[in-house]
This record gives sequence, C-alpha cells and structure tokens, in this order.
Amino acid sequence: MTPLVELHCHLDGLLDPAMLSDPGVARLPLDHEGLRRDTPVQGRAAFWRWFEHSRALEGHLARYQPILKLQAQRWIHQGLRYVELMIGSSEIPRDHEEMRAQLGAFRAWLDTQEAGRVQIELLMAFGRDRSPEAVDEIITRALALYEMGLIVGVALAGRELPLRPFDRSLHRLREAGVPLEIHAGEWSGPALVWEALAYQPRRLGHAVGAFEAPWLLEVIKARRVHLELCLTSNLRTGSVADLAAHPVGQARALGLDFSLSTDDPGPFQCTLPGELRRFQATFGASDAEIEAMMRRAWAARFARLDRLGGLASLEAAP
Ligand SMILES: [Zn+2]
Repeated sequence: MTPLVELHCHLDGLLDPAMLSDPGVARLPLDHEGLRRDTPVQGRAAFWRWFEHSRALEGHLARYQPILKLQAQRWIHQGLRYVELMIGSSEIPRDHEEMRAQLGAFRAWLDTQEAGRVQIELLMAFGRDRSPEAVDEIITRALALYEMGLIVGVALAGRELPLRPFDRSLHRLREAGVPLEIHAGEWSGPALVWEALAYQPRRLGHAVGAFEAPWLLEVIKARRVHLELCLTSNLRTGSVADLAAHPVGQARALGLDFSLSTDDPGPFQCTLPGELRRFQATFGASDAEIEAMMRRAWAARFARLDRLGGLASLEAAP
C-alpha cells in the first residue's frame, strides 16, 4: 500500500467526541455533551464556534497530549507515514526559556508516539487578526524554534485578512529561509490568493478562490506552488457547495501540484484514507493517481529529514 502523506492538519482540530472515552482525554476540562452535540460542524459559523470547546486546552500544550496520542495511533492504523501538524502560536510560551523547555519536551514525547511508524513534524500557525507588532513577536518565536529544529515551517491560518500589514515580519521569515504555508482562498476570492503569492509560500491551504481566475492558476502552476486541498472541510464549512463542484477536479485536469488533507479531522469527522476514497469515487481517480499525489505531497513537505527512512518508494519515478 502507498505510504500516505498529509500536509494540512491542525492540533486544535484533532479533538473527536469518540476520544472522550479514553481516560486521558476524559480528564481534560471539556464539555462532553456540547462537543458531541456540535460535532460534526455544519456551516462556517458552527465551525468557528466549535473551537470554543477546546478553549480550555489553549495555552497548555501538555493538555493536547492525550488527544495527539490517540491521533498518532489512528494515523499509524490508517497507513500515514508523514504528517505535518500545525500548532497555534497561543500554545507556545512567549518566554523563550520556557518555550525551549516546553517544545523540547513535547518534541521528545512526540518522538515516542511516532513509534518508528509515522513521522510527525510541527508547524507554527497563527491568525491574521492581530496587530503587526503581535505578529512580529510570533515570528521571532518561530525563527528561534526553526533554528532549534523544533518546527519545520510556519503557516498563516484563520480568517483571511490582508497580509500587507505583516510585510516586515514575513520578509524576516523569507530571509531566514523558513518554509511558509498560507491559507488563502478558503472563503475569499482570487485577490487575496494573489496577494499571498507575493510572499512566496511553498504551499497554499485550500485555494478554492483561486479557481475563479484561470490566470491565477497559471501562475500557481508556473511557480509550482503546492495546493493543500481539503474536500470534507470545504463542504462542511460551505466554501464549496457539493463534492462534484470541488475544484480538485479542475486541479486534476490542469495537472496542478496538489494533495488532499483533512484540515481538522475532529470537527469535520474525516480521515485521509476517507478523503482519498471520496476523491476516487467522485472523480474516478485511479490508485496510480493516488500514488502520484502522495509523491507530490512528499516532495512538498517542509522537513529536511526523513526520520523513518522508509519513504524512498515515494521518490521513485512513477
Ligand atoms: Zn487549515
């Protein structure tokens, strides 16, 4: 079976009501009834509201450990060999000493959860609904973590607001050669996707809005920007009306560099193998196409190391 690679998944989007029966998760300060009621989410407003359930975990990286422990087991069981997981900047201490200690310990713990079966790499993610000063402080932390090898890149997530106010900070990232992912076009149109491309992201998250502008797709193709497309996520938040209309069909027809991801498997109740099956069932994609997609995702990863050494098959020519 093809080893699976997932590039777009959020730590605070892993929580699944089915995990509540685990003793470690059961001890967390969570509203079980509310979480069961609000999962899966339907609609954009419900999606933002869902995150209120994990608010009590925010700022305590250790509280996510029982959840991630279960998720790592799921990934292994589902055949995932490489995952990039986004950690929100609010989970990362502002004090650099504290940050180094906490993230170092978290990384060491994560190594044990990988069990030599799945490589889990971390990205630091942040939203755009902050002041330029706040973003600059986040970037300073991200640069330090990248330097220490504790994160492999940075992701701009959350509500899609203009990036121009963060020019200086994003330039610092580029100067340091930190790989960048930008969520763009999830709900917005081509203009914000075009703006995002000015910051030379190696990957774009969602990019649904880009498909309204053929010229923009040409730019994305020419620059070989990898698109992280998320089927169930887009359907549940309403950014795409139905699966047959999802731009993945166009991405496939145009030969764009793309792969599929779950985004937030908890609120959306989806898995990567499930997303791949939906893609195959709706668009008639062959197993060979799935293999080719995994090779593209592997090539678009941010990590410089292959800690499992087992993904050589993904580098072989199709
Ligand atoms: Zn996302």
